[in-house]
Amino acid sequence: MKEKKIDAVEVWKELDALAPRLGLTVIDRAVYLHLLRRTHVEGKRRLRFSILGIAPQLGLSGHPVREAVRRLMDKGALRLIERSNIGHLVEVRLPREVRAPRARRAEDGGAKLRPGTNLDEVDFLRTRDLRQAIHAREGGLCFYCLRQTPARSHCLDHVVPAVEGGRNSYRNLVSCCMDCNGQKRAQAAADFLRRLYREGRLSQEDLSGRLRALEELAAGKLRPRVLSEEDGGSGRSEKRCPSAQILPPLRNVLKA
Ligand SMILES: [Zn+2]
Repeated sequence: MKEKKIDAVEVWKELDALAPRLGLTVIDRAVYLHLLRRTHVEGKRRLRFSILGIAPQLGLSGHPVREAVRRLMDKGALRLIERSNIGHLVEVRLPREVRAPRARRAEDGGAKLRPGTNLDEVDFLRTRDLRQAIHAREGGLCFYCLRQTPARSHCLDHVVPAVEGGRNSYRNLVSCCMDCNGQKRAQAAADFLRRLYREGRLSQEDLSGRLRALEELAAGKLRPRVLSEEDGGSGRSEKRCPSAQILPPLRNVLKA
């Protein structure tokens, strides 16, 4: 994913404004600048790194670097795409892309459920807020091809197609780009990922990561962020993907 190179002076100024807003420590700033240098300054957004690999370059031990990476993720400056035994794969956001903490909280609290609701039984196509919770889980990237997918062109895809009995559960819905939604159709998700790899749209590493994510999704490990409160579905209309339109209407009713 090749990105336009940034104006480092502008980014430095933006960081000066961002750091106090997010309450970044000196170590947070050092880690963030190091990661910015290795991504946006080199025309990339994503980087795979290990904590123990970057700590010596910053003259620090692993613990404070690990804590800084965690804080930067919590505050939205880094987005974790994958964590494995070879390190973290993250998307590094530019200071201007990091949302204000208050705005983030308001947006994060969008999907609300009644107390005691079993997440496994929730129809995530039922309300706009629940659908947004799936998009938010993927953090703006297509689940399949990992491309940055703007909100105006993302859609929800059934990993197991609805016509084959795939449910509207968070274990079976992913946020993806229109291209992948259109090309995957009824193909098994793992086969579709291998096709993306053969077409050079995923690296070998990405493919392994995506196949693992697919297993984690089915195992219920990729839970979207929802609040256990009175349901706050807005019912506003929005663009639906073809795969979302073929759902039987009965599935859109939550048995609360
Ligand atoms: Zn895609």
